[in-house]
Amino acid sequence: MNFPKQITICEVGPRDGLQNEKKLLTTEEKIELVEGILAAGVKHIEIGAFVHPKAVPPMADTEKVMQAIGKREGVEFRALITNLKGVERAIVAGVDKVKLTVSASKSHNLSNFNRTPEESVATFEECVKAATQAGLSVSGAISTTFGCPFEGSIPLEQIDTLVNAFRALGIKEISLSDTTGVANPKLVYERCSELIKRYPDVTYHLHFHNTRGMALANIIAGMEAGILHYDGSFAGLGGCPYAPGASGNIATEDIVHMLEEMNICTGIDLDKLLDVARKAQKLVEHTTDSAILRAGKSSELIANKPSGQIKKG
Ligand code: ZN
Repeated sequence: MNFPKQITICEVGPRDGLQNEKKLLTTEEKIELVEGILAAGVKHIEIGAFVHPKAVPPMADTEKVMQAIGKREGVEFRALITNLKGVERAIVAGVDKVKLTVSASKSHNLSNFNRTPEESVATFEECVKAATQAGLSVSGAISTTFGCPFEGSIPLEQIDTLVNAFRALGIKEISLSDTTGVANPKLVYERCSELIKRYPDVTYHLHFHNTRGMALANIIAGMEAGILHYDGSFAGLGGCPYAPGASGNIATEDIVHMLEEMNICTGIDLDKLLDVARKAQKLVEHTTDSAILRAGKSSELIANKPSGQIKKG
């Protein structure tokens, strides 16, 4: 197997993780979580979304969170936007990058945004223009890249069309999202290898949900294909409204732990990250899908633990 020496992780917990939580966190709690991730050395953070506050109440205070944190040297804060109003808010809030999302599946896009993928893409141009003029970077994201809960498998050509639509707008950073956790390692490897071959000018990011337990395997497949950027969410937060009972995004600590064990550098302090994940789990008041929160690091030797901490059974 052919693995890179270094991987970049983007922490999407403050956005993808929290946006589906029933319990609304306070602005102060969100700020505390973001400060925690920064202290753990994370350099790429999806801090929130500038979308309609009534549609997504947990994201209503993204401005406040961003303004309280402020710009940080060497750190990139990105936010999800869906229209020009979102760009305007992003500029005022001071994020570094905005992310435009479209689904490869017509039904999923209609269900999410009330328009077809083509109609979504047509609205992007004014957003890109406004963001670029204000000095913000723009990235794109393609949901349901590896399959859709409504339509099943998604032909590669539908992804190809959207990659090209983003390229035509000058967007060269594209996140391929497995929104509902239906990807498998073979599909990830084949699809990513093909896209890299077709469009080597694009920097691809991979975004996996661990809905069916395949996210880490998918990351291995993505690395094997040559992709160096991955999203994770602290404590594995982030359900999906279309997959009832679904677990969330792959936990950032699970990715960092796996990569550390494989001697692949992320620049992230796992212990500090685990503190944030523990805090996040406590704040949302339910258990989450994080293997390392549950089991601890594989390097933790039982012999080093006080006997009281060893669980029997
Ligand atoms: Zn997601």
